[in-house]
Amino acid sequence: MARLTVKDVNYKNMRVLIRVDFNVPIDAEGKITNDFRIVSSLPTINKILEDGGSVICMSHLGRPKGEGYEAEFSLKPVQERLSRLLGIPVAFAPDCVGDEAKALAAALKPGEVLLLENLRFYKQEKKNDPAFSATLASFGDAYVNDAFGTSHRAHASTVGVAQHFDCVTSGLLLEKELIYLKDKLDDPVRPYTAILGGAKISGKIDTIRHLMDKVDNLIVGGGMIFTFYKAMGYEIGKSLVEDDRIELAKEILEAVKTSRVNFMLPVDVVAAGAFENDALSTIVDVDQIPADQIGLDIGPRTVKQFAEVIRSSKTVLWNGPMGVFEMPNFAKGTEAVCAAVADATEHGAVTLVGGGDSVAAVKKLGFSDKISHVSTGGGASLELISGLTLPAVAEISEKSCGCGCGCK
Ligand code: AMP
Repeated sequence: MARLTVKDVNYKNMRVLIRVDFNVPIDAEGKITNDFRIVSSLPTINKILEDGGSVICMSHLGRPKGEGYEAEFSLKPVQERLSRLLGIPVAFAPDCVGDEAKALAAALKPGEVLLLENLRFYKQEKKNDPAFSATLASFGDAYVNDAFGTSHRAHASTVGVAQHFDCVTSGLLLEKELIYLKDKLDDPVRPYTAILGGAKISGKIDTIRHLMDKVDNLIVGGGMIFTFYKAMGYEIGKSLVEDDRIELAKEILEAVKTSRVNFMLPVDVVAAGAFENDALSTIVDVDQIPADQIGLDIGPRTVKQFAEVIRSSKTVLWNGPMGVFEMPNFAKGTEAVCAAVADATEHGAVTLVGGGDSVAAVKKLGFSDKISHVSTGGGASLELISGLTLPAVAEISEKSCGCGCGCK
């Protein structure tokens, strides 16, 4: 069954409560330094306004203690930016619940927008407190979720609120994430290749296990390779290792032997004497890492092998850098993988990039428009590609929900 989206409903004369992700970076002077997330929410807000509805935006920002107002985490700067981007005034409720928020929501007329102050000034938000959800829900006639980045969390504004409405729709931003990271990966065009990198095995273990049975090629790079090499009995020098995950690495190595997946680990690495950009480095085979060296990137023979597989794939999923890409001298592996993914897109593959660091690498290299979909959610995208059902996504109604919302 297809999910219900804002496109399926006419919101004329409705006050629509939208969970957006306005968790934007704000500097010490209160200036928003990157408004990408606000800009991304505009299509959903505008759709509702064009229908003749009004909008109540709610979001978190940063990590306040949950014990009341903290100036540095106020959404007030977002009010002004949202207003500028929409080209209309945006009202602001200085407390996300309480009499003033209630009155401002009740007074909304079609075409008007209200922004509530940071939800996480209340600890009840993250605790999915029923009374807190009920209060938020009482502000709207309909509820839309457009915050992919928090959809893996069962919070009051993502799950509790949804349970007060018969019909819950996904916003256009959330829907796009789900089309790419769920629908397209549930039924991938093959060959399907997943590339996993990043620092540790521990955060990616469920992802590796899940993808092993789904993909044709599973490429692994980044710091986690050294736990595999140690499990294989290789000398790994001073490279990053998780000793408490060695048994797990052995289990995976055993499992891939009997699975149909082409499991690829690097064959060579760039090793250096210190964790510094300017440290003297050499390229060594993975079973020849000197005892005093640290592996900081994948080597050129590996890049060639990985790139060949990526370029011949029809679906490519990438999460996590191949090396310590923050240091320019150890970014070549990540850059080459990024270029190969972009190349695959040009040759007709569906390519998806998720996870903070790989997304940062794509943007830094200017490849954003050469990837089919660059995800906005780090943790949420990792959970989704690990086959988990995201709690907030589970609340989205199916098409033809039959509630009389106009979705039939
Ligand atoms: P994650 O948050 O797990 O995706 O990890 C991203 C981090 O992994 C980045 O900060 C990289 O610098 C780091 N990383 C990648 N390769 C290595 C490596 N060989 N040794 C240490 N850290 C690494």
